[in-house]
Amino acid sequence: MADVLPAGPALPARVVRSLDEHAAAVLALGRPLPAVTVPSAQARGRALAADVRSTLDLPPWDSSAMDGYAVRSAELHVGGALEVADDVAAGDTRDVRLPTGAVARVMTGAPVPDGADAVLPVELTDGGTRRVHVQGVVAPGAHVRRRGEDVRAGDVVLHAGDVLGAGAVGLLAATGHAHVAVHARPRVAVLSTGSELVPPGQPLAHGQIHESNGPQLAAAAEAAGADVVAVRVVRDDVPAVRAALAALVGEADLVVTTGGVSVGAYDVVRDALLADGAGELVHVRMQPGKPQAVGALADGTPVLALPGNPVSSFVSFEVFVRPLLRRLLGARHVHRRRLTADLAADLRSTAGRRRLLRARLDWGSGRPVAVLVGGPGSHLLGALAGADALVDVPEDVAHLAAGDPVTVIDLREHDA
Ligand code: AMP
Ligand code: MG
Repeated sequence: MADVLPAGPALPARVVRSLDEHAAAVLALGRPLPAVTVPSAQARGRALAADVRSTLDLPPWDSSAMDGYAVRSAELHVGGALEVADDVAAGDTRDVRLPTGAVARVMTGAPVPDGADAVLPVELTDGGTRRVHVQGVVAPGAHVRRRGEDVRAGDVVLHAGDVLGAGAVGLLAATGHAHVAVHARPRVAVLSTGSELVPPGQPLAHGQIHESNGPQLAAAAEAAGADVVAVRVVRDDVPAVRAALAALVGEADLVVTTGGVSVGAYDVVRDALLADGAGELVHVRMQPGKPQAVGALADGTPVLALPGNPVSSFVSFEVFVRPLLRRLLGARHVHRRRLTADLAADLRSTAGRRRLLRARLDWGSGRPVAVLVGGPGSHLLGALAGADALVDVPEDVAHLAAGDPVTVIDLREHDA
């Protein structure tokens, strides 16, 4: 038996790092991509390449906050009546001047005529259209949205590095920006390795499994703002892996591989990446996700090689790949939000290894409680979809009790 197994090259030396050390080393591989101009309406999820200033005051003119009557507040008396001199709807572009002793009917969002200092809501009148009877009074300034009270022309309304959410897209439109300068989206290629892998939809022979890391990582990369340009599978064969990597030259800003970075006889990514001495095999003091490798394509494009176990690749993406993608995207904040949660149940860990445990946050009591899901095995995919957080157990902690506060990485998507 022994002589049918490939002898394999001697294992290359491993660098041993903490999670934070490796995350910092990976983050240092990238800089924000060059700026491109895109239509503002399509800029959601992109990071601004420069500050954005408003081209105008918001509101651009004094506008009515209510349906009612533009008035001179000093002319109002309960029980009095005033002539309705004009009718101003939203979209009325005339320059209206309010005569003394009269009012103008105005609708919400209509310009307030010159001379008026307040809007009397229709509810405080009889609603008259020629003469209006006054049933209440308002103070100067009531229900008028003043020109520029929201935003002044020239104000910086969004900052370089902001990732644009729906509110920002609305603000760009309101401040007159049809186009906006953002960083290019990182192009990501995913390469799954493993001779056992079969695409979903095809029947499995004994010994085969469906390829799930590729779709999982592609989805995660897209959610992080990347443009996934390739999702490919390659068998456990060093020349095939090298050819698959070579085919990606010029196609991507980042290549992510899964599988084949451990100490097995068929750990082909390890051998393909390290063959020319350029890559680095890393043993990260964490679980899951211990074996990692970093290399580069011939054109210098970084290659991050993640372990193949689906949970390991999921967690590795979160802590190593996603921050780098966010940096390439130009985001100011590259890390996920962290929260403090109460642990739902006791847990045992292994001192000397940082643990990142899948969890669901239960908000029933008003403050988050972290309920572990899925068990400790790195192959346990069943509950992965139910995890919206990773409990972060420090390297030096071996035991935590129910109710203990823990730091969790919040996996829910946020704008910003
Ligand atoms: P490896 O890191 O290549 O030793 O793979 C570790 C485990 O993850 C093995 O059980 C593989 O079958 C499994 N695995 C590797 N790649 C994938 C993938 N793309 N999809 C699903 N499971 C995988
Ligand atoms: Mg494998």
